[in-house]
Amino acid sequence: RFADKTIFVTGGAGFIGSAVVRHLLDDTGARVVNIDKLTYAANLASIPQAGGHPRYAFAQADICDGPALRRLFETYAPDAVMNLAAESHVDRSIDGPGAFIHTNIVGTFTLLQEALRHWRGLPQERAAAFRLLHVSTDEVYGSLGSEDLFTETTPYAPNSPYSASKASSDHLVRAWRETYGLPTLVTNCSNNYGPYHFPEKLIPHMILKGLAGETLPVYGDGQNVRDWLYVEDHARALTLVVEHGRVGETYNVGGRNERTNLAVVETICDLLDRDAPQPAGPHRRLISFVTDRPGHDRRYAIDATKLETELGWRAQESFETGIDKTVRWYLENRAWWQAILERGYQAKRIGVVAR
Ligand code: NAD
Repeated sequence: RFADKTIFVTGGAGFIGSAVVRHLLDDTGARVVNIDKLTYAANLASIPQAGGHPRYAFAQADICDGPALRRLFETYAPDAVMNLAAESHVDRSIDGPGAFIHTNIVGTFTLLQEALRHWRGLPQERAAAFRLLHVSTDEVYGSLGSEDLFTETTPYAPNSPYSASKASSDHLVRAWRETYGLPTLVTNCSNNYGPYHFPEKLIPHMILKGLAGETLPVYGDGQNVRDWLYVEDHARALTLVVEHGRVGETYNVGGRNERTNLAVVETICDLLDRDAPQPAGPHRRLISFVTDRPGHDRRYAIDATKLETELGWRAQESFETGIDKTVRWYLENRAWWQAILERGYQAKRIGVVAR
């Protein structure tokens, strides 16, 4: 699969992008060009097989930089682009939305313009096969009640600066398809978790706090529901969509694994009790409820029927198997996350204010 094809992966040093790059290198014959600005969230150590790999190249570039992108398109003449470059952390978007507007909206626009220019210059057969996949989130759909699921036709109702910026970028991608004919696809995915996840996100944050015997801060009453997907299942889904998805379509990606945030944290506590017990007692005693995030959506859940029936995708990991693998990975790969903690980053999860 993908033999002799060149794929641009933007944001390939991030959490999901690096999983996509690892999958493309390990499981397909694609040549991969990883284009990443290397923000605080990036980590090239997340692609251990990259060093000297004959089908891998890295370019440090900003997707807002049109001339840099143009040079890359001219140099590598890709067959497909997978756009995962983004500012992705909701809490940061509340404190500083500017970077989200810039990268997620202006960056997507710039990438679309350069991809369009490249696509228009391709010979007919290659132009017909060219694809641009824009990777987005289920957060664009807003918050759900207790029963229903997000489908590809759920109206957009973003509530945070992050989700509003992603919604804007999705609309731009749609418009470039409808107006200029650029062969685009969009995926909207639920919350990912797994190896190489940056420590500020909920699951790694709780694993590392728990290992350190520190307080585990849970927003609000802990009853916000998310639909969790193991990142490697997402990477396989994205590859399938680029290869076999219908141009112009949106595909929702989700693991059918709804859990409250509190249940997620309790599961992590129980796994840590098994694998790294604390002399002071069970990890659940460290849980503290803290003031909720403003605009915190209550529930997200994805109906992935279209992806499953059209492209035959299935999540391979249940939440139980995936979280077990994830906790073990953090225990066995301390050097990866210790380097990030030592480098220091401005933590963007709120502190504890109440039990
Ligand atoms: P991440 O923050 O871990 O990685 C983002 C990467 O993009 C980083 O390597 C960063 O350096 C790079 N980047 C940021 N700004 C850039 C710019 N201007 N130019 C080039 N590179 C830039 O994010 P992630 O969790 O891997 O998410 C990837 C994509 O998937 C995002 O579009 C996000 O909205 C979407 N998504 C994420 C989740 C999730 O649960 N993490 C779920 C659904 C969709």
